[in-house]
Amino acid sequence: MKAVVLQAGNKFALEDIPKPKLKSTGDALVKVTTAAICGSDVHAKHGLIPGYTPGTVMGHEFVGVVEETGDDVLEFKPGDRVAAAPITWCGVCRPCKRGEPQHCTRGGVWGGGEIFGRGLRGAQTDYIRVPFADNCLISIPDNVEDVQAVFVGDVFATGYSGAQRGYIQTGDTVVVYGCGPIGLGAIISAWQFGPRQVFAVDMLENRLALARLYGATTIDAKSESAVEKVRQATEGEGVDVAIEAIGSPDAFMQALRSVRRGGSVSVVGLFPGPIEFPLHEMGFYGVRISMGLGNPSCMSQLMGLLESGRVDLSAMATHIFHLDDALEAYDLFENQKGKCLKVLIKP
Ligand SMILES: [Zn+2]
Ligand SMILES: [Zn+2]
Repeated sequence: MKAVVLQAGNKFALEDIPKPKLKSTGDALVKVTTAAICGSDVHAKHGLIPGYTPGTVMGHEFVGVVEETGDDVLEFKPGDRVAAAPITWCGVCRPCKRGEPQHCTRGGVWGGGEIFGRGLRGAQTDYIRVPFADNCLISIPDNVEDVQAVFVGDVFATGYSGAQRGYIQTGDTVVVYGCGPIGLGAIISAWQFGPRQVFAVDMLENRLALARLYGATTIDAKSESAVEKVRQATEGEGVDVAIEAIGSPDAFMQALRSVRRGGSVSVVGLFPGPIEFPLHEMGFYGVRISMGLGNPSCMSQLMGLLESGRVDLSAMATHIFHLDDALEAYDLFENQKGKCLKVLIKP
C-alpha cells in the first residue's frame, strides 16, 4: 500500500509500505477513507519539530472504516465508521485518569516521529493500526460525512480546548489571532461558551470570509491594527479573552496587548522557537496565560454538534486529492496555491 513518507533533505515521497497487522487484543485495523494535511506536517518536513527521521509515515488527522478488531475491543466492529484524535492514549495511566489523555505516558501522535510518535505510523496511507481502540476511536453518525468528521479530532478539538482554556464566560468579548483551520476551530468553539462578540484577525481575505461565515467580526491585519480595533470596541479596556492560533511571536504580543487586566490569553499556535515575554510588565496586569495540546476527551460532544447540524465544518475542506496525488496536495497546501484551507487526501 502507498503512504506519504518523510525523506532525507526535507521532502516527502510516496512509498510502498506493508499493510499493518493487529499487534494486541485491544487493537483495531482501520481502512483510512479520508486523511487531512496539517500545518504541523509541513513543520515536520522542514525539521522544525524534533524526532522526525526519514522513513516517518505522515498524517495524524483521519477517519475510516473498521476492518478488523482484536478480541478485547468491545465498542467497535468491522464496518463501523470511525474518527480518531491526533494521538493515542491508554486510559489507565495517571495522566489519563486525571482526564488529560493528551499527556498519556503510553500514547503517541500518529506519524509523530521518534519522540512524539513513539513508533506510531501516520494515516496518509490505506490502513492504520489503532492501539487502545476503545479509547482512541469514536463512531461517526450516519448523517456526518467524512469531510466534516475528519476535522473533529484535531481542528475542532484543538480549537475547542483553546477556547476552554481561555475560560470564556457568557457575554464576554473574544479575539482570535489567525483564521487558519485551528483559528476557525477556535472561533466556532468560542461561540459554544456564549460570548457577546468574537473578533477574528488575519491577512488573507479567503480566511477572513470563512471567519465571517462562522460569525466573527473580522479585522484585516494588513490595513488595520487589531489591538486598536478591539480596544475601541471595548471602551479602551481590552477583550476578556484572546486566543493565539498562529504560532507567531508578533501575534502573541498583540494577543497580550488586546486583553483587559485580569483577562486570559490562550495559546494554541505551534511556535517554531522560544520567544521573548514582558513578564516585568504583564505581572501587573494579572493576565492569565495558558497553552497546550487539544484534549481529545471532548470529541464525542463535538461530533454531537456536527450530528445536530448546529456546527458545519465542511466549508473548511477546500481541496480533495487522491492519495496517488498527495505530493501535489502538499505543494498546494504548503505554497497556499488556490486559496486553500484544509486539503484532504483520499486513499
Ligand atoms: Zn493536525
Ligand atoms: Zn494513558
